[in-house]
Amino acid sequence: MSTDDAQNEQPTWDLDPKFDFIDAHRLPFLDDKVSLKKIDTECSGPFEGKAHGKAFTQAANDEIRDLQYRMFTEGKQSLLVVLQAPDAAGKDGLIRKVLGQMNPQGCRTYPFKVPSSEERSHDFLWRIHKAAPAAGKVSVFNRSHYEDVLVVRVEDLVPKSVWKERYQIINDFEKLLAHRGTRILKFYLHISPHEQLERFKKRLDDPTKHWKLNAGDYAARDKWDAYREAYEDAMEKCHSKIAPWHVIPADKKWYRDASVAAIVRETLRDMDPQLPPLDADLDEIRGLYERELSEMNE
Ligand code: ADP
Repeated sequence: MSTDDAQNEQPTWDLDPKFDFIDAHRLPFLDDKVSLKKIDTECSGPFEGKAHGKAFTQAANDEIRDLQYRMFTEGKQSLLVVLQAPDAAGKDGLIRKVLGQMNPQGCRTYPFKVPSSEERSHDFLWRIHKAAPAAGKVSVFNRSHYEDVLVVRVEDLVPKSVWKERYQIINDFEKLLAHRGTRILKFYLHISPHEQLERFKKRLDDPTKHWKLNAGDYAARDKWDAYREAYEDAMEKCHSKIAPWHVIPADKKWYRDASVAAIVRETLRDMDPQLPPLDADLDEIRGLYERELSEMNE
């Protein structure tokens, strides 16, 4: 084989490697304390490297789109994907490269920012419940009701007596959604402080990323441990079979995308949405078609 042939040869990666991404990244259902420090922020899973991971994501996205289309036509079940992460951990990139690849007819992303005065005049779930997916649909939450036990707790925005009641309220809310037929997947994108600073530097060096610069991101770094503890508490108190938390190693962007795509695909496979059965007389419709065809050919 010439050197040119060797260079042109396409790798034959296994695009459905037998690796249990859910088992690897879902928090265990034990009463143990969650310790994010003990969970790696970097991982390559079953992949040979970045190119393999990216090829896998592309294949998984194709299947996700197909399964989502089935769920949309079935019109019974729905899927809620909750994304939480420190700044620059890659929620936007993950939405662009994986979750946003679904058919927009049946999928919508909801970013949750600082609540407006109207939102603040209601209970904290008011704005969230409105965004929960209807039958057949997918909702992706870019931040979520968890901010009300994270930023609100760390920044002391409401008294402890208020936020500490919210864990149970969140569990009851998620139970209500599940009861209606919604599958819930919660992802925490786990990035190291070192990698976060690298990404902040890239934002500084790239004028097309200057719109993302925010002094508040550095203030949050000073409270890294307080946020970590708040996340650990939220995961510990609100982790259930109907609404599990997954901790995704996010230092490598391609692994973040591949592992979330794998878990979403596996969940949709398990939901097994079905195209609706025929609700008409096939012979009659075929007869109508053939009549039209012969009229056109006359
Ligand atoms: P993102 O960082 O998600 O790309 P922004 O830079 O606009 O988007 O940040 C949104 C901000 O809104 C975050 O600082 C987040 O903590 C804040 N936020 C979201 N929900 C709440 C809430 N319920 N109470 C207070 N702040 C919130």
